[in-house]
Amino acid sequence: MSQSTLGIVKPDAVKAGSLGAIVKRLEAGDLTVVGLKMIHLTRELAQGFYRVHRNRPFFDSLTAFMSEGPCVVMVLQGENAIDRWRALLGATDPAQAGEGTIRKDFGQNIERNAAHGSDSPESADFEIAYFFNALELTG
Ligand code: UDP
Ligand code: MG
Repeated sequence: MSQSTLGIVKPDAVKAGSLGAIVKRLEAGDLTVVGLKMIHLTRELAQGFYRVHRNRPFFDSLTAFMSEGPCVVMVLQGENAIDRWRALLGATDPAQAGEGTIRKDFGQNIERNAAHGSDSPESADFEIAYFFNALELTG
């Protein structure tokens, strides 16, 4: 089943100049970009995006990180795109991520882990709508 998922190249990876390399991985992984923009999140936008984690101990640090510089938000489409994009990302903690995954190769630590992917169809719907309207999506 063709699905859409939200990807983010996080501020650490944009700053490190890894945007192109990460987009190359997802294209090589047969995911199609149907929407993409660079945005410098405010603290409030980062808090809203990660509201599901608002009671977690890492919330303040995470939302500071996500608003420290520009990130690139994108909508990716393909068969089983949600799980396939998360497989390309690897585990949340780069130290636990498999060889050849994006987080293993571009992440610094469990917070500064280079990229985001939606974890379910429900979160994908919320996350895509958080950043994109229908006119900004080509698929
Ligand atoms: N995070 C963190 N410390 C943790 C767990 C997560 O800083 O102990 C950050 C990390 O950037 C992660 C994000 O919070 O990507 C969202 O956490 P989640 O558990 O949803 O991981 P993900 O779905 O991104 O793999
Ligand atoms: Mg998550």
